Amino acid sequence: MLAYGRQSIDQDDIDEVVRVLKGDFLTTGPEVPKFEEAFCAYTGAAHALACSNGTAALHMIGMAIGLKEGDQVIVPSLSFVATANGPHYCGAEVVFADVDPDTGLMTPDTLKEAMTRADADRLKAVFVVHLNGSLVDLQGIAALTKAAGVTLIEDACHSLGSTYPTGKGTGSIGDCALSDFCSFSFHPVKTITSGEGGMITCRDPEMAAKLALLRNHGLERDHTLFTDADIGFEAGSGEANPWAYELQLLGYNYRLTDFQAALGRSQLSKMTRFGPQRKKLVAAYISKMAGMEHLVTPAPNSGNDDVVQHLMVGRIDFAARGKTRRQVMMELRDLGVGTQVHYIPIHRQPYYAKLNPGLTLKGAEAYYAGCLSLPLYPDMVEADVDTVVSALKTVLGG
Ligand SMILES: *Cc1c(COP(=O)(O)O)cnc(C)c1O
Repeated sequence: MLAYGRQSIDQDDIDEVVRVLKGDFLTTGPEVPKFEEAFCAYTGAAHALACSNGTAALHMIGMAIGLKEGDQVIVPSLSFVATANGPHYCGAEVVFADVDPDTGLMTPDTLKEAMTRADADRLKAVFVVHLNGSLVDLQGIAALTKAAGVTLIEDACHSLGSTYPTGKGTGSIGDCALSDFCSFSFHPVKTITSGEGGMITCRDPEMAAKLALLRNHGLERDHTLFTDADIGFEAGSGEANPWAYELQLLGYNYRLTDFQAALGRSQLSKMTRFGPQRKKLVAAYISKMAGMEHLVTPAPNSGNDDVVQHLMVGRIDFAARGKTRRQVMMELRDLGVGTQVHYIPIHRQPYYAKLNPGLTLKGAEAYYAGCLSLPLYPDMVEADVDTVVSALKTVLGG
């Protein structure tokens, strides 16, 4: 059975985890900063902060920029629910942007439309999602967020390893050349995995320092930054108390363990193989699906050489094929092909629908109606793509 996505773990990944398990540190130790340094080197980010998962990354970014009740953020409706939940945990109201019906991506136009539904005084941040690994128009969107004076965050959970035009040259996703923060997830279906795990990248050193506190309860351990002399220093001598820490702001336990960081760094070192392999498989899909446009088309933008796709999405007119999506999914499963749907528009989820009565976003709903994620992961071989394509022909009646 071909899954729609899965991890690729080799003996050397396992050896790295076992090495750390035999050492002194299980939770945050030397492996976490080593993973962060490797991540900065790979993406070109100034600062990288590892955390427990991609959702925690989004929540912490919201906290770091001070989101609170009464604030608004714009989030594309076509994403995993975590993109909306992260800022909403801080109390911010989510204004859902529509997406392009073919790519599923927020565009400068759909952002502009969402801004007309938001309140300019309360709007604090815009979250974009590089859905499937296809990249949003960062230059166009950054121009709008800059003009509006709001923070721009890339939920980059689908786009590790991709490059993009910055206007001055070529950027790497994660370098935050046009945005304030990027968030990543290392869930097993993502491009690299640490079991559970996440990363935030940013340019601002003060934000990086704040994020480091937020992921560890908000505990300040640097004596030079203490505000309460009674706890921090010995009476009389004025020497620092070695056990002392101060809670200056309310954070969470969003730490990554050391053995997860070791796995993450081992996986990151394989992007030189994972990236080209994903590109090769996507190219194989596109060439083998040529001539099948009446049955299924690859979601556009997937042909970009500089993009490491997370998902391989087929767009299918189910009604025209005379089958429901469920039927197609079940028949493909019987032929050994696993598929998934990414995503149900978030504004349609009962929790958010109640907060946005009557909201319809035609692009998101049209994209959702026709999407089906096909198997894509680095351990697949080209013959697996043949299996998927011939199963699609069989099931869709081509
Ligand atoms: C996976 C994912 C997340 C959440 O990451 P977790 O590590 O599972 O918490 C958020 N946004 C997007 C777009 C994702 O794909």
